[in-house]
Amino acid sequence: MTGSWRDVLGRTNELAQQYLEQAPRRAVAQPAPMEQLLQRLGGRLPEEPEDPVTVVESLARAADPGLVVTNAGRYFGFVEGGVLPVALAADWLATTWDQNAAFYALSPAAAAVEEVCRGWLCELLGLPEHVSAGFTTGAQMANLIGLAAARHHLLAEAGWDLEADGLFGAPRITVVVGRERHATVDRALRVLGIGRSSLVEVATDAQGRMRPDRLAAALADAAGAGPLIVCAQVGNVNTGACDPMREVCRLAHERNAWVHVDGAFGLWAAAAPSLRQLVDGVQDADSWAADGHKWLNVAYDCGIAFCAHPRAHRAAMSLSAAYLDDAGERNGADWTPESSRRARAFPVWAALRGLGRAGVVELIEASCAHARRFAELLSADPRVAVLNEVVLNQVLVRVAADDERTRRVAAVVQAEGATWLGTTVRDGVTALRISISDHATGPAEVAAAAEQVLRAARRG
Ligand SMILES: *Cc1c(COP(=O)(O)O)cnc(C)c1O
Repeated sequence: MTGSWRDVLGRTNELAQQYLEQAPRRAVAQPAPMEQLLQRLGGRLPEEPEDPVTVVESLARAADPGLVVTNAGRYFGFVEGGVLPVALAADWLATTWDQNAAFYALSPAAAAVEEVCRGWLCELLGLPEHVSAGFTTGAQMANLIGLAAARHHLLAEAGWDLEADGLFGAPRITVVVGRERHATVDRALRVLGIGRSSLVEVATDAQGRMRPDRLAAALADAAGAGPLIVCAQVGNVNTGACDPMREVCRLAHERNAWVHVDGAFGLWAAAAPSLRQLVDGVQDADSWAADGHKWLNVAYDCGIAFCAHPRAHRAAMSLSAAYLDDAGERNGADWTPESSRRARAFPVWAALRGLGRAGVVELIEASCAHARRFAELLSADPRVAVLNEVVLNQVLVRVAADDERTRRVAAVVQAEGATWLGTTVRDGVTALRISISDHATGPAEVAAAAEQVLRAARRG
């Protein structure tokens, strides 16, 4: 290999800065066909080494038409966070240092930073201070961890040694879920050996919140059925709505059920005084999943699994299946199902330092204010209907009460390239789903995107 660190990293830094400088102006997404990308990036497996600077330049050039600009304030699809400059910088360092966060011995710094972030996040989100945390790829894996801890805990209470005997012959676990849960919950349960027929769906209200009366009925029906998990949600991926957590925890705990909360983005509402009432009672749950790469605006990938029962968390995940603490050293691999791992907590640490509590509150509250403004601008046109109560950062919009026209508006906006938003289907109705989760989104981006949607809606 030729080329010094300075050459390749210097050139890469230039390319990165060019990208970031152009990002606010370039098309958010280009319709790059797969064949074209394969042609640009593919070809025969190279037989011979190539100069690193040339390789990096080729990658930047070839990948470019297939990049989606999710971090320049103009991307409103799915729930996609942007990236804070300080978090990006720390991510560069984490990669540069090539730290493996599996074991304390492999990176004492990564272990310490995980522990510090655990404490800071608990404080910020109002979770009990003894809560354990694992740093994961995302909320999918954080849901899996919370539910795995639940599975361990409930089966141990029932006298079943899951680690020794596995799931065959174990008491059957029933999982009470909201009808509008995220698909990752089902996958997490499936991976854990808990299939569809063990799920009890609770009806949701117009905003997608679990109905407490229906939850109470479901729990009463499940009485005597064995171990129970209630899997709640704060931050419905469509409406942003949050399950009534105080009621959910009270009802579930009366039945000795474990409460897991999918709070991928909604859990961040707990950090903001003006929004905290939406998730009131969430701190009484037993485990929580949150994302770092959504609302905290660290780069992909980062999620966090929290658990109010560290022994269950550790028993479910520990590499050595040991329960004992080892001299206060934190091994990241004991809190997630992965062994060698990226040191994801470095960017989390940098984001929390860079923002401070006030900055996190500002980021969350500003996103919600932008969402309200977006809804207001759109609903000024009688062709456009806002379908949800805009309580958080999500806005659902339907054009001319028509699925086809709504889809067409999304397609037109996407093709124009100045912004990107997608569609979702909820209750059989197609809607534009607008999410504001990027710190780079400001009033100007919202006004421009709303204008674009309105223009497309007028066109029919
Ligand atoms: C995004 C999301 C998930 C999945 O999170 P990943 O970070 O993609 O793994 C789960 N639940 C909800 C509510 C989400 O919004």
